[in-house]
Formats: sequence, C-alpha cells, structure tokens
Amino acid sequence: VDEIGVPERSVVTTCAYCGVGCSFEAQMRGDQLVRMVPWKEGKANRGHSCVKGRFAWGYANHGDRILNPMIRDSITDAWREVSWEEALEFAANGIKRAQAKHGKDSVGVITSSRCTNEETFLVQKLARAVMGTNNTDTCARVCHSPTGYGLKQTFGTSAGTQDFDSVEQVDCAVVIGANPTDGHPVFGSRLRKRLRQGAKLIVVDPRRIDLLETPHMGEGHHLPLRPGTNVAVLTAMAHVIVTEGLFDEAFIRERCDWDEWSDYAEFAADPAHSPEAVEELTGVPAEALRQAARTYAAAPNGAIYYGLGVTEHSQGSTTVIAIANLAMMTGNIGRPGVGVNPLRGQNNVQGSCDMGSFPHELPGYRHVSDDTARHGFEVEWGVTLDPEPGLRIPNMLDAAVAGDFKAIYIQGEDILQSDPDTHHVAAGLAAMECVIVHDLFLNETARYAHVFLPGSTFLEKDGTFTNAERRINPVRKVMAPKAGLADWEATQALANALGAGWSYTHPSEIMDEIARTTPAFAGVTYDLIDQMGSVQWPCNDAHPQGSPVMHEDGFVRGAGRFIRTAYVATEERTGPRFPLLLTTGRILSQYNVGAQTRRTENSVWHAEDRLEIHPHDAETRGIRDGDWVRLASRAGETSLRATITDRVSPGVVYTTFHHPDTQANVVTTDNSDWATNCPEYKVTAVQVGLSNGP
Ligand code: SF4
Repeated sequence: VDEIGVPERSVVTTCAYCGVGCSFEAQMRGDQLVRMVPWKEGKANRGHSCVKGRFAWGYANHGDRILNPMIRDSITDAWREVSWEEALEFAANGIKRAQAKHGKDSVGVITSSRCTNEETFLVQKLARAVMGTNNTDTCARVCHSPTGYGLKQTFGTSAGTQDFDSVEQVDCAVVIGANPTDGHPVFGSRLRKRLRQGAKLIVVDPRRIDLLETPHMGEGHHLPLRPGTNVAVLTAMAHVIVTEGLFDEAFIRERCDWDEWSDYAEFAADPAHSPEAVEELTGVPAEALRQAARTYAAAPNGAIYYGLGVTEHSQGSTTVIAIANLAMMTGNIGRPGVGVNPLRGQNNVQGSCDMGSFPHELPGYRHVSDDTARHGFEVEWGVTLDPEPGLRIPNMLDAAVAGDFKAIYIQGEDILQSDPDTHHVAAGLAAMECVIVHDLFLNETARYAHVFLPGSTFLEKDGTFTNAERRINPVRKVMAPKAGLADWEATQALANALGAGWSYTHPSEIMDEIARTTPAFAGVTYDLIDQMGSVQWPCNDAHPQGSPVMHEDGFVRGAGRFIRTAYVATEERTGPRFPLLLTTGRILSQYNVGAQTRRTENSVWHAEDRLEIHPHDAETRGIRDGDWVRLASRAGETSLRATITDRVSPGVVYTTFHHPDTQANVVTTDNSDWATNCPEYKVTAVQVGLSNGP
C-alpha cells in the first residue's frame, strides 16, 4: 500500500504498448484507475514490467481525447460535434456513395495493431463481408509485413516459433536489428539474465547495443554491419556453416526439402558469399563473421531474435528468409531454447496479422484464392467473397491520387505520421471523398478526415491482444468507454449503418466466430483464456492447451523450404552530398511517435530525440556533444542535438523517432521491401552539419 491507498477492486488486463504483452492488475477506486501493478501470474512477464506499462497510462484521461463523434463542415471546414447516429450515417453514406459511383473496390479499411483481435477481425470483416472488397491493410505493413511473407514462405505460417520461457534454455542468442533492453524491456531483462548465466551473444547491428555490455556472458560477438547489408552478412554466415560442414544434416533430411537445401547450399557455398568477399561491402571483419557463424552453429540451442532492423529494408523479406534458412540448417527449430523470434513492436502486431488484416489473406494466413478457406467464411457470413487480393495501403493511396479510390475507414492508425512519403499520403487522403478516422486523438491523418469517430483505450473494453510469442492475452474492461462505445461496438454500428445486421453483444462472441472459422484458433474461448490466464495458438484438438513451441513435429507447410537469398543493394546510396548512413531505433521510455507516452505526466519521459554520431565524424564537422545539428537527406531535413559516441561506427548516424518536433521520418526515403512494400526506414543517406537549432 502506498500513498494512494488500498484499491477497492482490481482487474487483470494486458499492457497496450509493446509486443511482450505484460499482464497487469489494474487497481481501481470507484471508476478511477489508481495504479497498474505487474501481475505475478502473467506468463509473459512473471510480475515484471517496464516504466511504460506501469506508469504511462495517464493518456487515457488526457484532455486531448476526443469524446464525441464529429463531422467536418463542408463550408467552414470546422469540426461539428454530432451524435453517434449522425456520424455513422454520414460515414456509411460516404462509403455507399463512393461504391455506387466508382464500384465496390473504390473503398477500403486500415486495421490497427493497437486494437484487440476482436476489433481487428470485425474491421476486416466489414471490408470483406459488408463492403465486398479485399481492400484491407494494417499498420503492420510498415513494420512486420516482411515477417509475414518470409516465415510463410519458409515455415508455412507467420509467427514467432517459441515462447519467451524458452530463453532460459538458450545457449547462443543471435540478436539482429533489435535492441531488446529498450524496445522490449521485460524480455530484454530475461535475455540479459540468461547471458549473465553464461549464454553467448551475437549482435548483428550497426550500433553497439546495451546487451553487449552484459557482465559474465559466455562470448559476445558484435557484427557492426553497414545499414542495408543484412542479407550479405547472413548469407556469409550460411556460407561458413555450409563450407565448414557445420549444418545439421539429420534435421535437414528429416524436416526439410532436400532438393531445395542442396540448391541453397550450392548457392551459399559460392566464394562470392564468403565473409572475406563481403567484408568491404558489409564493413564486418571477415574473421569476426566466421567466428560468429561457428558459435551459432556449435551451440546446443541457438535462438534468433530480430526486430525492425531486419524488416524495414528493401530486402526485408529476403532477410527474414535468410534468418529462417540459418535456423533450419542448424536444426534450431521445434524445441525449447531455439527458433526464430520476431520481436513485435506494438502490442497486437501478431494479432492484427493473424486476424486477416492483409489484403491477400483471410484470418489464419490463408490466401483469399484458397477456395476451402474462403468457402468457410462464406458459409459463416452468408456472403460471396472475392478471390482476388485487394490493395495495400500504398496502392490505396496511389489509386486515390488516380481518382479510383474514394473512401477509407482508418481505425487506430495515423498514416500521415507513420507511413513513408508524407506528401503522397496527404495527396491520397486529400483526393478521397470520405475519410473516416477512428482514434483517441485528433491525429495528423484527421486533418484530412470528413468524419471522426472517438476511440476507446485498452482500459475501456474487453478483448484480447496476441503478443510476440503467439500468446492470446486477455484485455479486460476496467471502466466504461469514455466516448460511449468501445471500438468494436463502433465498427459494428458502422457495419449496421451499411445494412449488415450484426448483433454481437460481447467480444467473446467475436472470438467464438474466429474459433469457428480459423483452424489455429479452433480451441480458443474466453473460458479457456480465463482458466489458463492466456493461451498460445495454435490451440485446437491437436493442442487443446495451446502451443508454446511451434513446428515441433513438422513445419506448418510440410517440409521446411530453403530459398536462395541473393543480396541486392538498396537504391539508397551515399555520395559526396550525403556521405553518412542514418538508421533509427527506440528508447525505453518512449513509444513510437509518443501519442500516448507524451500525454502521460512523468518526469522520466525522454525529452528529445538525439543524433548519435561517431567522434571521428563529429570532429571533422566541428560538432561537439550537445550541439544542434541539421540532418538532411534527399527527401527532407530536420534539426536535433548531437550525442557523440562510438556506439555507432564511423559513417553511420543513429536517432530515435519519438518526437513530432524532430520527425525523423521526414528524411527517410520512399524505398520499400520488394515483396511487401514495407518502407525502408533503416537506411537513409544523409549529411550532418552544425545548425542554430530548430
Ligand atoms: Fe508494456 Fe512492453 Fe513494458 Fe511489458 S515490456 S510493460 S508489454 S511496454
């Protein structure tokens, strides 16, 4: 008991920030939340938490929240508060008008990785079953869509293979393009504890992350690669494993397609892929790379953890495939302590992808052209579904600029701030006739909205989030929705304004529908989640208590698939005008663009984004620690203060992207992943010089 006193009641729920999915007791007095206490029974966090989940919930009561629906006056351009009925009718009429005039595919939706599984399921159902289009996409487009592609191609489904508990059995952890102690703090602490016990660590990252400073760890390897060369480094690791005979032949013969392995092994063994051949390209000393490959291959249990430093590249999908190749060739799949583990940035990235948010996939990662899968939904929903994939977010915007796409419903996503090429996003939104924004705050995208629907926080609704280990965690309402409707209720009301006739009375009914239609969720019920505290999919007849580890007896696709990973250089190049490479990341106390954390009073919140620059690069530019500098690229420029550090290599600069004043994304390019259009946020050629400040 602290000065706040004894709570009257507490409700167990799940943190709405990162993909660790920590469980908390929300302690209440009356209808006021007074304290969030990490829940000891929580399987993802076991009583631990970070500063965000524990303290950064004040935004739920912030005065910036919009609590009434609004319609923009077409003459004065001012917002006018209206009833839910009027706002929903306005929105529905906008969608109907667009479809009547321009066809059913002139409209679409964007789901949110911040919302619950049930809400996401309803939004994609709204598109497919009510609007009659596969034009549905998700904010995961700009973060983990390459994970969706790469793991589906190689393993057969898009999900982390392990539970977090597995980290206790890891002998060698490979961390690629991730900084777990900042980005996923509770998992980062568990990994650090394992390293302290003697596990080995390989970090593939342009920047020296904190994990490398862990005392007593077995061996530490840092491969400080030049941004954009992940594929070359990982293929060189494969080269060492193949040419030195360090692969697990028995595993490959038993679990993978041998012909594809033979083809891949021939490719990887090419001397052009040796560490020595790629040393100059990658900046990684050949001997360090060889040693790292040997360490990973020799470990009894080797696990790979990766983040957006893998996916947000023009070769993001190829990099995910390269990671899967390494895990399969060393037999590091299908048992505790090993695996391929994407660390998801947002609370429900895994869930929003599971729920069929992508335009080519129905819930459960089944392609829309899959007749059997489509038929199941057609029977459940009583409609005919389109077998052709719909539009991705960038394609919706292209179509809008071309005059073919007219209305969009965006739930919990600020595409103007978070998507690449801000001018193009603005042009696309401006060209639409009906933009429906459903959010907590008047975000940047809402500048182009015609109707605004007020959103609900995670404290104001029931539902589930799925964390990075496929764990379906309960989200439980601790207070009534401040705007009157939870997000799932607002989506249902919009669907009904379009004539759908939905009648869900509680999100558990939506989960029941997910279970009826999606084999990997067939056994999931709210009763089971309440009984077990949480459950990891697949959960069905074969795994009635869920599945901590995937691919135990075989890959979801059958034989694991090796795919060649040719390195293709990004189109972003350094040169005399832009001689440095910028890459980006997160810090512990902030979250994405800070919409929540900056609206929570607390003195620990990070005050500003800083530019990390190597002492050599700083000296040649006359920059001292703390100086204001101008960061400019071919796309734009911004100002921020410099931190001089040898955490970054010469030629590389680094910043975080949490503050709208800095807007690191204004300098990033419009390059994107070849398979998924995920933007290449992690490689930008820049120049840095002294400035007078913003
Ligand atoms: Fe929330 Fe992630 Fe922190 Fe856990 S580690 S409290 S899920 S932000």
